[in-house]
Formats: sequence, structure tokens, C-alpha cells
Amino acid sequence: MQQLLDRFLGYVKIDTQSDPNSQTTPSTEKQWNLATELAYELERIGMKDVTIDDNAYIMATLPSNIDKEVPVIGFISHFDTTPDFSGTDVNPQIIKDYDGKDIILNKEKNIVLSPDYFEDLLQYKGQTLITTDGTTLLGADDKAGIAEIVTAMEYLVQHPEIKHGKIRVAFTPDEEIGRGAHKFDVKKFGADWAYTMDGSQVGELEYENFNAAGAKVIVSGKSVHPGYAKGKMINAISIANEFIGILPPEETPQYTTGREGFFHIHQIKGEIEHTEFEMIIRDHDRERFEERKELLRKITEKLNAVHGPCIALEIKDQYFNMREKVEPVFHIVEIAKAAMEEIGITPIIKPIRGGTDGSQLSFMGLPCPNIFAGGHNFHGKYEYVPVESMIKAVAVIIKICELTTKKV
Ligand SMILES: [Zn+2]
Repeated sequence: MQQLLDRFLGYVKIDTQSDPNSQTTPSTEKQWNLATELAYELERIGMKDVTIDDNAYIMATLPSNIDKEVPVIGFISHFDTTPDFSGTDVNPQIIKDYDGKDIILNKEKNIVLSPDYFEDLLQYKGQTLITTDGTTLLGADDKAGIAEIVTAMEYLVQHPEIKHGKIRVAFTPDEEIGRGAHKFDVKKFGADWAYTMDGSQVGELEYENFNAAGAKVIVSGKSVHPGYAKGKMINAISIANEFIGILPPEETPQYTTGREGFFHIHQIKGEIEHTEFEMIIRDHDRERFEERKELLRKITEKLNAVHGPCIALEIKDQYFNMREKVEPVFHIVEIAKAAMEEIGITPIIKPIRGGTDGSQLSFMGLPCPNIFAGGHNFHGKYEYVPVESMIKAVAVIIKICELTTKKV
């Protein structure tokens, strides 16, 4: 436990924030600081074929210790943290034997992590929590995942009596800006399937995510003196407003949950001559996802017929639901589920209302469900992780390695 904790505390102190405005990989130079560290550490714990490529993707092998042929499996985490919140000078606080009450993160600034607001805290009474000092994020997303994978691999190196096939691990940059999988060399990784250790609470097992697209609607208008505009003015603002008014008002993020999809307008700027807005489109169901895009095309057509050709619509697919790639190889979910159950964890299987690197990797030929890493309240100052949850994740990784030799 101490080693896992030390490892995690060491990682979070290294700032690895990624940057969506950068074109390089990794997007920030500072991600190398942790990446190089991790490559050394993998060597040190006895992993083989440790490589770090020009884009800072790290891969390593734990060789098989059995005679028979079994599938090669992988475990993947990302070492960058979100650009949405500071990851500089992370100063983790260790709360031992949590008493179920408010945790003062920062006395001066009166920042409190309270179970009144974050009810999940109450399931961790008596456990050891790692929190922030209220000024940064923690980085459990996803340095908890890295600490768990490294610790599990070290354990397997030191316990050859536990039998397993060839195991591959990979740590990637830039997941938080949606590029973690972009330069991932699936062929070099050479696994039959993998798991990202990037979920939240204990038991989470996810193999379904949104189908996702982004759309931009550009409306061109015509400005005329308002006193003499009859029959002449085309007000791009009103037409944009008309467009938005046709969209189903209840199908937005604030009114949807579970498997319900939505349209989400996240940016608008406008004048009479030119108004444009951007939205994201999300749906777990591929057919309904296509229907949503079709609706945007129909509205465009309809309004162009009424007002003249003033609307241009651009739609770009972003990622797809990995379910269609995981279902044909469903034993990879069954093994993870069985691993959790064997160590007394109740699997929580639910669709992700977002995307993961695993969804992109699944479409690149590496089916890749997501497993909990233990943290909560990602991407902000209330982020925390119970050490006990991290220990459970280590146990799940080890158990999956074991079960893969038996269940396939
Ligand atoms: Zn993550």
C-alpha cells in the first residue's frame, strides 16, 4: 500500500497539463518530465521491451510465464491532466481514517470538500483519502491508473507463482484533449485487447460510449437600414434563432441522462450579416445519432427554402460507440467482470456519457473497455481518490491477467 501511495504522490507532483491549442505531440513539453520518469521506472521494476517514442508514448512488456498460448492483453493509462484546471504545484493532502465529515481543503480560501454536496464521500468512511489543497486538481485522472498498472506489474514480476500470458502496458499523452489515441501504434502494441484504467469509482466497467459529432451552422444575412428594411433585410440572428427553436428543447445535456442523446449548443456569436453557432451531437444509438445529423440537414434545407440560401451547415464525426467493436469479443468484458466478482467487487456497468481513448482504440483494431481507477470529481479542485480503491484496481488488474489464461 505504501509503495502504491508513494508512487501516486510522486506522479501527481509533476505537472503534465495538456494544451488543445498546441499542434505538437505531446502537446506540452512538460509531459516529457513524467514520461521519461515512467519509462525508467518500468525498466526498474523489471519490465521488458520498454520503449518511449518521439511522441512520448510509452510501451512495455511483462513476458508470459506459462507454456501454453494465451491472448496478449494490455493495460493503458494517460499521464496528461486536463487543461481546464491548474495542475501546477499539486500539493496532495492525506486524510487517514476519514470520519465522514467536511474536509477543509483550504482554510484561507474557505474551500471545503463536503459530503453534503459530494455524497459519494460517505462510502469511504474509515478509508484513506487523497485530496488536493483546494488550489489545483489532483491528477488521479489518470495518474491513479498509472500507479495501479505499475504496481500490479511489479507485483507480478515479484510473484512468478501467479501465472499469466504476455502483458503489454502503455502510457499515453494528450488524452484530455482527445488525442491520446491518435498516435497510438496499435500494431506495435500487439495486444489482442486492452483495458484503459481511467474510470471513476470502484466497480466501474464501461464498454459503451457516445457516438459523437460536432456541427457548425453559419448564417449569412443582409443588413439594411431598419426603417426601410421591409422585404430586404435578412437578419442572420433571427434565422439562427429560428434554427435553434426547431431543435427539441428537452434533448439537451441538462435534461438528459443514461442512454438519452442530445444536441448541445456551446457557442454562438452573431450580427445581422453573420451569425454562427457550434454544437455537439451525442447519442449512444448509432441510428438515432444519424437521425440527429439528418434533422440538422432538414432544418437547413427548410430554412434555406424559406429565406433563400443563407445557411451553411458543417458536420464532422468525432468518435463512435465502442460497443459495436466490443460486442463481437464480449469475453473481454466477461473476464473483467469475473475478475471483479472474484475479489468481491460488484461491477457497475453503465454507458459512458462521453468518449474515451478506448473508443478510438477499439475502432483502430484494439477493443478496449474502461475500468475504474478509483478517483472522483475529476478536472477540478474537489478531485480525490481513496487509497483503498486504488488497491482494489491493482487487484483487478492482477486477477484479469490470471483469468485470461483460464477463460479463453
Ligand atoms: Zn482520464
